Amino acid sequence: AARVARAAVRGPGRTADGHPIALLANVGGPADAVSAAALDLEGVGLFRTEFLFLDRAEAPSMEEQRRVYRRVLEPLAGRKVVVRTLDAGADKPVPYACPDPEDNPALGVRGLRTSWRRPELLHDQLEALALAAGDTGTSPWVMAPMVATAAEAADFAEVARSHGIAKVGVMIEVPAAALRAASVLAAVDFVSLGTNDLAQYTFAADRQLGELAALLDPWQPALLDLIAATARAGQEAGKPVGVCGEAASDPLLALVLAGLGIESLSMAAVSVPDVRAALAERTIEQCREIAAAALAAESAVEAREAAARF
Ligand code: PEP
Ligand code: MG
Repeated sequence: AARVARAAVRGPGRTADGHPIALLANVGGPADAVSAAALDLEGVGLFRTEFLFLDRAEAPSMEEQRRVYRRVLEPLAGRKVVVRTLDAGADKPVPYACPDPEDNPALGVRGLRTSWRRPELLHDQLEALALAAGDTGTSPWVMAPMVATAAEAADFAEVARSHGIAKVGVMIEVPAAALRAASVLAAVDFVSLGTNDLAQYTFAADRQLGELAALLDPWQPALLDLIAATARAGQEAGKPVGVCGEAASDPLLALVLAGLGIESLSMAAVSVPDVRAALAERTIEQCREIAAAALAAESAVEAREAAARF
């Protein structure tokens, strides 16, 4: 019966009373983009560009990048696509972009920070994206990973706009950026919460250590507080706040995120139907009540139980 109900819900993500929550896919390259384009979803909320840079001695040329970006943008033409600039370091090692072995790579020169030493890597990528956008007549949104301060967001926005990128954003995956979300948002057009890294840095718990999974649970109230603060800042600024970490793929948590004011959820494409079905069963006001109950809980287990009681 659940499968029948799920199949019956189609089209753009929305709550029972029609409040829109865009349902987007996380993709890692052209093959993913082609399969996402064949599905009932509104676009791509996170295109991880790392695959192009991994396992090689030097960065791909601007022309090579342009060709690959074109193959991602083309099948999704007419839909939203959010491209993330190179997120090198820690769990995504790219030796030519990162410094020699660091004692704490997760806390090191990674993500946007790699552009401080190798600014040409970021320039080439942004130029390749702008060219591919022109080639395909599309207008991708572009965001930077691992931004900690509003000044970094402003610097990135200036560089991205100088390449002609129209919609510039940053990921919120460092607690400092979530705490100062209003200032970060003042510098950009949108933000996207990366809940995988945001959990890692909030709980000082390596995201790759299974032993610490309970701390990394996206239902942890401290993580929900940071998401709520960021969503509130987005509503006050009138700018979109999305979620593109694993948290977005949990149908019950999706209700909480919608209730907190998150406007788009990006996840593995296979998770979209269940999240769509969950949203379709609740009004936005019910989502707000579920979110309030989760935020009032004292632990991840309690937060999940509180939300499930509705
Ligand atoms: C995240 O950190 O939540 C995220 C979406 O990015 P990645 O998993 O690629 O670090
Ligand atoms: Mg991340």
